[in-house]
Amino acid sequence: MSPNFDSAPLPFNLYSSIHLRFMSWGKLLQPDLMLESSILSLTPDIIQHHRLKGLVLDVDETLVPITSAQACAELSPWLEAIQQVATLWLVSNNISENRIKRIAEPFNLPYIIGAGKPSRRKLRRAVTAMGLPPEQVGMVGDRLFTDVLAGNRLGMFTVLVKPMVDPIEAARRYPVHSFEVWLSQALGASLTPGKP
Ligand SMILES: [Mg+2]
Repeated sequence: MSPNFDSAPLPFNLYSSIHLRFMSWGKLLQPDLMLESSILSLTPDIIQHHRLKGLVLDVDETLVPITSAQACAELSPWLEAIQQVATLWLVSNNISENRIKRIAEPFNLPYIIGAGKPSRRKLRRAVTAMGLPPEQVGMVGDRLFTDVLAGNRLGMFTVLVKPMVDPIEAARRYPVHSFEVWLSQALGASLTPGKP
C-alpha cells in the first residue's frame, strides 16, 4: 500500500504550531530583569537606569513572607527610598483584605486584592491609575506564572525577585518555584540573573 502523502503535512503543521506556541509562552515567561536576591536588592539606581516611573509590587513572598503578618524592619527604609523615584501600587492575588491592608496602610500604599494574575485586568487598573504607559511601569514579583506572565502580557517591564521568606522557612526548598523555573526554561525562557 502506498503512503498517503496528503495527510503528511498535518502532523508537521501541528508540530510547528505547538512549537511556535511554546516559543511565545517562553517569551511571556521571560523576565526583563532577574535579581539574585529579594526585592530589597532593587535599588533606586536600577529603577532609574531602566527609566521606570512606577512599580506594581506583588505582596506575598515578594514584600512579606507568607508566614508573616508584617513586613520585616528593612522594608520600611526600602519603600521610603523607592517612593522617591517611583509611584507604587500593591497588586496581590491574595483575597484577604485584612492581610494586604495591614501591610499597605502603614506605608500609605494603594492596593488591589484578588488580582487573579496572570489576568491583566486588575493590573491594568493599577497602571491606569498611575497615568503611565505600561512600559514605564515595573511589575515586581516572585512568581513567573503569575507576576511575570501578567506583567509581560500587559507590556510592562518585568522583574523577578527571589522570594522573601521567613528565615526559619528559608532553609526549606520551594518545589513550586523550582518547577516553574524548570518549566519556563523548557519553554524557552532564559533565566540567568541579569546585570542591573
Ligand atoms: Mg508572590
